[in-house]
Amino acid sequence: MSDPGATLAEFTATDRRWMARALELARAGLYSAAPNPRVGCVIARGDTLLGEGFHARTGGPHAEIEALAAAGAAARGATAYLNLEPCSHHGRTPPCADALIAARVARVVAAMEDPNPRVAGQGFAALRAAGIEVQSGLMAQEAGALNAGFASRMARGRPRVTLKVGASLDGRTAMASGESQWITGPEARADVQRLRGESCAVVTGSGTVRMDDPRLDVRLEPELTRGRQPLRVVLDGRMQTPLSARILAPPGHAVVCVPDVAAPGAQGLAAAGAEIVALPRGAKGLDLDALLQLLAERECNEVLVETGARLAGAFLAAGLVDRLVVYLAPALLGSDARGMFDLPGLKHLSERLQWRFTDVTPVGTDLRITAEPA
Ligand SMILES: [Zn+2]
Repeated sequence: MSDPGATLAEFTATDRRWMARALELARAGLYSAAPNPRVGCVIARGDTLLGEGFHARTGGPHAEIEALAAAGAAARGATAYLNLEPCSHHGRTPPCADALIAARVARVVAAMEDPNPRVAGQGFAALRAAGIEVQSGLMAQEAGALNAGFASRMARGRPRVTLKVGASLDGRTAMASGESQWITGPEARADVQRLRGESCAVVTGSGTVRMDDPRLDVRLEPELTRGRQPLRVVLDGRMQTPLSARILAPPGHAVVCVPDVAAPGAQGLAAAGAEIVALPRGAKGLDLDALLQLLAERECNEVLVETGARLAGAFLAAGLVDRLVVYLAPALLGSDARGMFDLPGLKHLSERLQWRFTDVTPVGTDLRITAEPA
């Protein structure tokens, strides 16, 4: 949502340049800022950079505070560029709107409003009440994409769900025997590491854990993640997760969702290092809406689902997938191999689930196809 008081025509080439820099700074928190949004800030006067900063991790200083500290007294009368409306409420740190007012900046240019409908516009209002000129909407699309998960949690009360699949050109993910490693190349697997690193939780099913024994942890450089690991979540409706499963081992925190925490086997999983959480049963397996509610309560912005055809199909059938990322390898696995999603019951073309491609990028020898519900 752009501010009705500003139009794109009001922004200069200098404004665009500094906003692009603020977005670049925000991306430095891509793997570490969650559950907070990724935010960058530039303080400038005309073409002169006075200070810049970004939000690295929750509990640490916000981007505005870093940039104001770097600019010092020079911030007075300058312009602050931000990819997100400054906070106006006392959270883990004091409000940034107050800090911008105290530093006497003359103008604030933001890419977008706070996506939380309960606080949207309040940061801008506080600035305007203090006589600061405020404009919003510059590079709003890029800013929205950077914090799509945060916006989903704030506006809808649930994380953004990305379903990732590695498949052959004929849409197969495993041989009939279950053998599946590795269909895609090393570059695609490195790309998946980044996808995981951006996520707050990685979700899989106990069938995948038994078949592939994945770790599902993030092995990016520590300076990118600042030590942050997404939550690893196993949906286990039948208490089938082996105690020796690698997903239960450190680093990070593993959660096994079961129908009944008092069921036999739950104690053993807890002793193996997992947190055991009860989820109600849904139509097929555990209730996925309840799972996303649980993950939202744990401040998960982005959830990545990496699983087999059954659970992937259940997420799709429930309409809970916001983004599909398919790594397509130039190989044919044949008609005996397993498909990408179990989606039974579709009889007519009119019942198809319609998606639209939003990006296609070669990754090594594979293609990465991104799609969203049409
Ligand atoms: Zn702030």
